[in-house]
Amino acid sequence: MSMNKTPGTTGLVMEEPLLVERSHSGRKSCCLPKLDIEAPDLSEFGDLVRDETEGLPELSEVDLVRHYFRLSQWNYNVESGVYPLGSCTMKHNPKVNEKVCRFAGFTATHPYDPEALVQGNLELLYRLEEALKAVSGFEAITLQPAAGAHGELTAAMMIRAYHVAQGKPRHKVLIPDSAHGTNPATSALAGFSVVEIKTGPEGFLTAEAVADVMDEDTAAVMLTNPNTLGIYEQHIAEIAKIVHDKGGLLYMDGANFNAQMGYMRPGDIDVDAMHFNLHKTFSTPHGGGGPGSGPVGVGKRLVAHLPTPRVVKEGETYRLNYDIPESIGPMRSFYGNFGVNVRALAYMLELGHDGLKAATEMAVLNANYIRARLQDHYKLPYATDTLHECVFSDALQKEHGISNVDISKRLIDFGFHPPTMSFPLIVHGALMIEPTETESKEELDAFCDAFVTMAKEAKENPEIMHSAPHNSFRRRLDETTAARKPVLTWKMLQEDK
Ligand SMILES: *Cc1c(COP(=O)(O)O)cnc(C)c1O
Repeated sequence: MSMNKTPGTTGLVMEEPLLVERSHSGRKSCCLPKLDIEAPDLSEFGDLVRDETEGLPELSEVDLVRHYFRLSQWNYNVESGVYPLGSCTMKHNPKVNEKVCRFAGFTATHPYDPEALVQGNLELLYRLEEALKAVSGFEAITLQPAAGAHGELTAAMMIRAYHVAQGKPRHKVLIPDSAHGTNPATSALAGFSVVEIKTGPEGFLTAEAVADVMDEDTAAVMLTNPNTLGIYEQHIAEIAKIVHDKGGLLYMDGANFNAQMGYMRPGDIDVDAMHFNLHKTFSTPHGGGGPGSGPVGVGKRLVAHLPTPRVVKEGETYRLNYDIPESIGPMRSFYGNFGVNVRALAYMLELGHDGLKAATEMAVLNANYIRARLQDHYKLPYATDTLHECVFSDALQKEHGISNVDISKRLIDFGFHPPTMSFPLIVHGALMIEPTETESKEELDAFCDAFVTMAKEAKENPEIMHSAPHNSFRRRLDETTAARKPVLTWKMLQEDK
């Protein structure tokens, strides 16, 4: 790949001052006509009424538009190119979903509208639950949680309610050392203590490792499947049995569902609860804070504890049922992030069963293509077959003093977003790559070419890697100071000066 073909940054990306720095007294973004009625009397509001809007920037509309547009050009995003952030599934989201979720029938309704006027919206929620049930094999779904981690919390609360209902509250949750960080965080937030289970030498949990620690104070085992190494938990069905025999429940983190659609239904192997990340698997633009949707599917043991309200169908009408005696109650205002749910159903209907299965096949094929092309150049710490992502380490480059940070920074020069780094924690110097199902072979080849070039540079020209990125708008940032002494507002910046 020749350097002049790398996207990098062009001279048209501009430095951008803060809005307060661009402010000019008297500039406005709108022109209102002169008041031609009597001004209202606001005296009853006392001090709250201000003559001056002190400290607010004054700008014209064009100043404002350019400010935000320029800032947006500093960003790399899925529309810019490959975004191989392992575990996050940063894939292309079909634009038709955006169009559908903006239909006035959806956007011009309100959660307080009478049920009779929003039958279509309720039907949509009902049909999405049915579609998610079909693809996962669960008994029921709640669409309320606003993200994956929120789904985990919803399930953890249902699991606690289940044990309380059995008359035997339990206190521990078992989680493998390869878990996503949200899993132990959720368990702790829900009041459980976390016990770690060691991943086996081949990168998956052994049934024995679970049997050794499973006891009658364990509320649940929480597994990510495929796990954060991209490896399928081969003993999951056996683990479900071990856990259930001791009266515990099995939670599966379903963030990686794009590795199993059409091939494996967790409900069929007696998993008790799982969250979906609709914004990952079922195509909603995500990252940067939302919106997301983290529905939870449950098996027979947890149905009674689902959050309120539930959408029910009676004859040809839909209504919301708030009367669920053993429910954990509402987890969010209204019925979840409705717009994300619309996108997810549009995506599922567009693809159908065969299309979702094909998406899984492409996700697995793409990740394995990268694995095959790079395994002679980067260390693959686990040789076991992987599904939708692969985890390399920087061990071979470390011999030349090059770390995973240097590799990720240098990758920016080639026009690609860095992969997930230093995660999972059980791989030292990890580079976790998830290309997703939507990348073409040409993109994957360009991406792999960059990695092959970097492996060569690490040996022959390590300095170019240490000092990378060279083509980006900003050079290497001082991430330690940024984390230890964050300057988050203009006022803090003034105080800092
Ligand atoms: C993304 C992710 C989560 C958390 O989901 P959010 O929607 O970001 O809250 C949990 N587990 C795994 C494995 C994930 O990849």
